[in-house]
Amino acid sequence: MKIRHLTASFILAVGFVMASAFTALAAVPTGRLEKVTDTEITGWAWQKDMPNTPITVRVAVLDEDGTEVFSQKITASQYRDDLEMDGKGNGCHGFSIPIDWSALEDGVYTIEGYSGDRTLTRTLTYTKGDPQEAAGDEAAAETPQLVSLGTFKTTGYCPCVRCSEGWGRHTCTGATATARHTIAVDPKVIPYGTQVMINGVIYTAEDRGGGVRGNHIDIFFDNHSETLQHGTQNLEVFLVTA
Ligand SMILES: [Zn+2]
Repeated sequence: MKIRHLTASFILAVGFVMASAFTALAAVPTGRLEKVTDTEITGWAWQKDMPNTPITVRVAVLDEDGTEVFSQKITASQYRDDLEMDGKGNGCHGFSIPIDWSALEDGVYTIEGYSGDRTLTRTLTYTKGDPQEAAGDEAAAETPQLVSLGTFKTTGYCPCVRCSEGWGRHTCTGATATARHTIAVDPKVIPYGTQVMINGVIYTAEDRGGGVRGNHIDIFFDNHSETLQHGTQNLEVFLVTA
């Protein structure tokens, strides 16, 4: 009897815990950082269970050492018709935070967004000035120094839906993808903002792709036929250090 009673209360307790877990899941804020420019950082955030209530987001800028050098809280309440059409309640969930980069040293910065204890999807990168020059390396800056990174698998992609899944020329760092300039990388292997030379062309790492892992570089092309023409090639990649 006693044991059965205990079991019943246990099941009841587990039930309560699970119910509250589901409630917590339903009330999670979601959002996305979209773009960083010389003057502002933009994105959106909302919470499905209160579709017309603006929520607060915090945007932080981290330097190369991961130290927070800027942080700003804002209520995401700007109306955007694209958000409303996308079913985000009344669409009043956009935000835009002004930022004065002149207050920060030259370098490559990472931008992250948070709402509550959730991190917004997408991390942005902003390069201020010439980080090499900032390091006092001006003499070397005139002659690019090449260091071989070894052989990488290289593939191509273009703005078409098949290659970019609707991203078009938008990259994950906020830069606009351009041919003979943009490559998608595994940022663990080649950090964003890095310049590399492949077949004599200097590219900048400013995008990433679902299938790009390890020693793999996806080169941006203007159209799909150029992408097919490139195919898959193993090529030597050089780091451009100045
Ligand atoms: Zn394509």
